[in-house]
Amino acid sequence: MKIEFDLGKINPDSKKFDDQLLREDIKNAIGIYATKLPEIYRGLDSDVLDNVTIHIVDASNPDDYRQEAFTKKRKLDNSEFIIAISQFNGPTDIRELLAHELCHIAQFLTGMIDDSVGNDSVIWEGERFVLSSIPHQKRPWEKDAIKNQLKLYGTLPDINRFQK
Ligand SMILES: [Zn+2]
Repeated sequence: MKIEFDLGKINPDSKKFDDQLLREDIKNAIGIYATKLPEIYRGLDSDVLDNVTIHIVDASNPDDYRQEAFTKKRKLDNSEFIIAISQFNGPTDIRELLAHELCHIAQFLTGMIDDSVGNDSVIWEGERFVLSSIPHQKRPWEKDAIKNQLKLYGTLPDINRFQK
């Protein structure tokens, strides 16, 4: 995966991702997750993953965003994604947020989820869900990502040290 911090920020005054150490942390975590993802999401090709570009942007505008982070497609062919990060609502380790969002990217890449159908709807494993009728935490793709994010997050060397 290619990681970029060059995209116009959602929050234009933000300096959050100008920090080189934070950038390295993010790149290292995503690099480790990328090797693990095909084991968790069967059918996910590591060559496909290698060619995906992820743009990391700061969405820390508490008026507009209620989630700690979210993922959006940047290209319809699944070659580019935006991971927007805001930590206004919680103290979650940024690397755990990234693990969660990478699960969503894997869902897109494997075709588990299709958000191109419009009408406030998403197709998840062949079934249509109307977004406004199902709370965030009850959405099956969220349950899937919440379950699998720990399999990624737990592979980080310093996280393992604390868990043993
Ligand atoms: Zn999610």
